[in-house]
Amino acid sequence: MTEPAAARAGRGPADERGLRRDEPLSRHTSMRVGGPADLFFEVETADDLARRVRFARRRGLPLFVIGGGTNLVVSDRGVRGVVLKLGRSFAATRWSEVPGAVRIEAGGAANLKKLVLETIGRGLGGLEFAEGIPGTVGGGILMNAGAFGGEISGATVGIEGVDRDGELVRIPRADLAFSYRKLALPAGFVVTAVIFEVSPGDPVAIAARAADARSKRGKHQPVGFPNAGSIWKNPSGDFAGRLIQLVGLRGLRVGNAQVAPGHGNFILNLGGARAAEVRELMERIRDAVWRRRGVWLQPEVKLVGDWGRGSFTGARPVV
Ligand SMILES: Cc1cc2nc3c(=O)[nH]c(=O)nc-3n(C[C@H](O)[C@H](O)[C@H](O)COP(=O)(O)OP(=O)(O)OC[C@H]3O[C@@H](n4cnc5c(N)ncnc54)[C@H](O)[C@@H]3O)c2cc1C
Repeated sequence: MTEPAAARAGRGPADERGLRRDEPLSRHTSMRVGGPADLFFEVETADDLARRVRFARRRGLPLFVIGGGTNLVVSDRGVRGVVLKLGRSFAATRWSEVPGAVRIEAGGAANLKKLVLETIGRGLGGLEFAEGIPGTVGGGILMNAGAFGGEISGATVGIEGVDRDGELVRIPRADLAFSYRKLALPAGFVVTAVIFEVSPGDPVAIAARAADARSKRGKHQPVGFPNAGSIWKNPSGDFAGRLIQLVGLRGLRVGNAQVAPGHGNFILNLGGARAAEVRELMERIRDAVWRRRGVWLQPEVKLVGDWGRGSFTGARPVV
């Protein structure tokens, strides 16, 4: 018999407002895989968020923040502890003029694609490279989302959030440690807003750059099946998709998960795939690329939750 979520997650009842127990995370990920979260809170206010963060800390429960779930592979066993999601009230954006630029304060749950389209529509440059990147502003900043030479860090002047003590904190750009597909933040930090600055420019040129990004994306990105975008980071000076093609693994299938026939860096859920199948494909790819090309691929997607065995991102084999 399955142990009740509350018992697995900690002693005593949780405050029930906004709480869902055993919430299937497949509903919250673009790959459409993932088992249940013991305790899933959708929060609508900063106070509520702070309370949930403190709740998890007091009980010694792991805390995971989910955005749009577009960069995640969640295990079939799900996630122990608390999963937090920012609700709709964190999706607002505020626009204001500052000398030489327009400042946007975007809530952590704001839709990144929509925000980028709005900047393009208003003739503001700085985020057009990100045309078409799905997910939220909070997830985008955590991943330092990027494409075609641009990164979200380039337009960022600060963030706001709640730290692991539940305190509201503002961090200026100078103190944000961005790297390729990563923003290093203190453990348990939840981003509630990102402050961007974008510049008024030639609307035609900005729209043309966005159209270029859209057209490149359209050429390379598979459509029609749930996926999590690029599975691997590109190794320095190369492309993960190219290496996977060279070792002949495009189209490889494990159960209902398949390496996209047209792009080696995507794994598709053909329908009802399990996370274990996605992980097995990832392991086969990493091993083949390592053995035959000498490159140890690093995942860009986050493998999240209880996998029941060792960490996926383990060290490269010693030769
Ligand atoms: C079709 C497709 C195309 C894609 N193309 C690109 C691309 O061109 N470039 C690119 O960089 N990515 C791309 N991605 C990957 C993904 O969209 C980005 O990484 C995106 O920025 C993730 O945002 P998210 O809200 O979905 O975050 P999630 O996937 O939910 O989470 C990602 C990470 O951010 C953390 N997180 C999320 N929200 C918060 C928050 N508020 N506070 C603290 N931590 C948080 C999570 O804990 C997790 O560690 C693509 C994905 C798909 C499905």
